[in-house]
Amino acid sequence: MSPEQFSAAVLAWYDRHGRKDLPWQQAITPYRVWVSEIMLQQTQVSTVLGYFDRFMDALPTVQALASADEDEVLHLWTGLGYYSRARNLHKTAKLIVAEHGGQFPQCVDQLAALPGIGRSTAGAIASLSMGLRAPILDGNVKRVLARYVAQDGYPGEPKVARQLWDVAERLTPQTRVNHYTQAMMDLGATLCTRSKPSCLLCPLKAGCRAHLLGRETQYPVPKPRKTLPHKRTLMPLLANPEGAILLYRRPPTGLWGGLWSLPELDNLTDLDPLAARHSLQLQQRRALPGLTHTFSHFQLAIEPWLITVKGETNAVAEPDWLWYNLAAPPRLGLAAPVKTLLKRAAAELNAGEMS
Ligand code: SF4
Repeated sequence: MSPEQFSAAVLAWYDRHGRKDLPWQQAITPYRVWVSEIMLQQTQVSTVLGYFDRFMDALPTVQALASADEDEVLHLWTGLGYYSRARNLHKTAKLIVAEHGGQFPQCVDQLAALPGIGRSTAGAIASLSMGLRAPILDGNVKRVLARYVAQDGYPGEPKVARQLWDVAERLTPQTRVNHYTQAMMDLGATLCTRSKPSCLLCPLKAGCRAHLLGRETQYPVPKPRKTLPHKRTLMPLLANPEGAILLYRRPPTGLWGGLWSLPELDNLTDLDPLAARHSLQLQQRRALPGLTHTFSHFQLAIEPWLITVKGETNAVAEPDWLWYNLAAPPRLGLAAPVKTLLKRAAAELNAGEMS
């Protein structure tokens, strides 16, 4: 297939089958496309739908996002994971307001220079919301193109990535680039899926090398394997007589940066210094079912303990610590496993198991 035949086939498929009713495809603005693209990184469309609508209701413009509290932004992101995306979104919104008069730059290179916006996201914003001819290479498109050309090598390697960008650049048409970009993302999400591509329905099957070789699922070439290291931690849920749980805010950078979390201890014996630090008397304790959380670079086995306490529990003397009221939860950003553990603690306390 020539590049013209390729894009014509993609566009004809888009006209018949492409998705046109996603919330970020309505009332299109660079802001809406940007937020949706950031949410869609590492996250499925079905998950993003609810988050996107809530985010837009609360923060409908880049100005609203720029002036929001970080806690509010992280709260709206709670459960989506990869929180650096939310922090970068916030930072970039402030930058766009302060340095670009609240307008997104109309140039891929300038967009790609903003925090958290890589070349592919810049291409998506430019093509989908501004109609500029700019290729994209997100996970879905990378899979389609790696299969189409039967690309050797792991795309995480710079040399392989450069070759795929060249392919993307060559195949991007001069016109209807917004529909083409959407179609390529849809093709990857709906037909050219990771484990069971529907090649018989695919408009590219006549030219797709991986399909002609019968080796679709061998592309993109996977990352050379290495096993994730394991870590373990003990998380005490210290519950005061009002049923509130002691949380602290993690430092702004690093794991779960800026999110509210449970204290982390090596052993139960470390409880005593923690209780002394907050002038608490430990009462009953009970182990809750453990859970494992997988980060990109390690697995964390969490051993949760629900512990009732007495003492000066109306206020916390130190900044970045608070009593989290389970009955009327404040709007804070919480790490996903912490949210799960707070729900378990609430169920346990409501059942009167610890009274
Ligand atoms: S023919 Fe199959 S492997 Fe090739 S792009 Fe289409 S769905 Fe993907």
